[in-house]
Amino acid sequence: MSPISFDQLGVAEPLLRALTGLGYQTPTPIQAQSIPLLLEGRDLMGCAQTGTGKTAAFALPILQRLAAEKRGPAPRSARVLALTPTRELAVQIYESFLAYGRYLHFKAAVVYGGVGQTPQVRALSRGIDVLVATPGRLLDLMGQGHLRLDQTGVFVLDEADRMLDMGFLPDIKRVLAVLPRRRQTLFFSATMAPEIARLADGMVSNPVKVAVTPVATPVELIAQKVLFVAQADKRALLNRMLQDVTVTRALVFTRTKHGADRVVRQLDQIQVSAEAIHGDKSQNARQSALNKFRQGRTRVLVATDIAARGIDVEGVSHVINYDLPNQPESYVHRIGRTGRAGARGQAISFCDRQERSFLRDIERLIRKAVPVEENHPYHQRPVERAAAGGEANGGPARAGQRSRRPQGRAQTHSQGRGQGRPSNRHQGARAASLA
Ligand code: AMP
Repeated sequence: MSPISFDQLGVAEPLLRALTGLGYQTPTPIQAQSIPLLLEGRDLMGCAQTGTGKTAAFALPILQRLAAEKRGPAPRSARVLALTPTRELAVQIYESFLAYGRYLHFKAAVVYGGVGQTPQVRALSRGIDVLVATPGRLLDLMGQGHLRLDQTGVFVLDEADRMLDMGFLPDIKRVLAVLPRRRQTLFFSATMAPEIARLADGMVSNPVKVAVTPVATPVELIAQKVLFVAQADKRALLNRMLQDVTVTRALVFTRTKHGADRVVRQLDQIQVSAEAIHGDKSQNARQSALNKFRQGRTRVLVATDIAARGIDVEGVSHVINYDLPNQPESYVHRIGRTGRAGARGQAISFCDRQERSFLRDIERLIRKAVPVEENHPYHQRPVERAAAGGEANGGPARAGQRSRRPQGRAQTHSQGRGQGRPSNRHQGARAASLA
């Protein structure tokens, strides 16, 4: 990571304050390369995937330039338009603008299909500084006269490759046709296949070209949590977690193929799009499930460890261990598939009584106690927590397994300091304990 600071890139104070609040210390490579030039008003052609910090790379200079201009938006128009293929991404980008622009005054809105349009129309009526949109709804609103783009000075096209995959090319062209010719254009795509490059060439002028590849996330950068839950409550707990809209792309791991199919069936029942990949599925079926997941058409991919080998999907917002692996190394591989360029990726593990020993092995391997999330309705108290500082065998202290009797209310528990060595792993015998 570059040693340069956001301050040195020319980022202004109110934005710096927000970044400090978010815990961003150093710019990611794409930020370091593009922010100064975008602040000058240059166009950009960025080959970058989600997870590289690209949202801040465009949102920070945009916000700064907006703040420097004195004029506000005209009614039913947007000063900045960010077009993105999916609703999840739209919401994510919108929320990023709000987070980075926390100490600035500006109006932002997000519009996408599948929901009523009245609140969106209302939001647009007096004009918007930053509008994030998916193509279909944007064109609907324009067609009905609720929005015009002839005063939009900045246009961001995000995930252009996915846009084309999803058949949005004609929509993009319609948007381009009504945008002013004099504007700043920021074009992002994970790949630069010839057709994408052609599309970009027609949109940008004398652009800065930036290409970055995401780095694998070291375990320390992934936000990890463990939720203690009875096996019988895991299903309800997963359903509840998926009510959270920030879970945009979740990779759920089960220990068995049957377990994976079961999870998919239960998610079907609550209308969450999910597919399984495991050894009983044909290569075609696996590939198709993977493609749909990559394209954002499936929100949840349920996998077993073996099937997940070699899966490379960007932008996984959450890895959920529905079952903990009995091999601690699998835990590290599983969670490394989330979170890039920072700690957005979340790894959430469900742990029932019988899996507590797996958790201890994992914690020894990663030399760290996984923080416990108790704030959920299915919290199952550890049978007995070891006293503070008790780190027998060099591993973080965890609940003892002496009594299976549930005990009253939870007490504060120590999570150990996690200084242990990866020794004493008692593997093998554990696999049988999970039916
Ligand atoms: P993005 O590629 O824009 O989706 O960003 C990926 C994740 O990295 C998001 O969770 C951001 O909040 C986070 N992030 C972006 N830039 C930084 C940074 N400079 N330092 C730490 N985290 C960052």
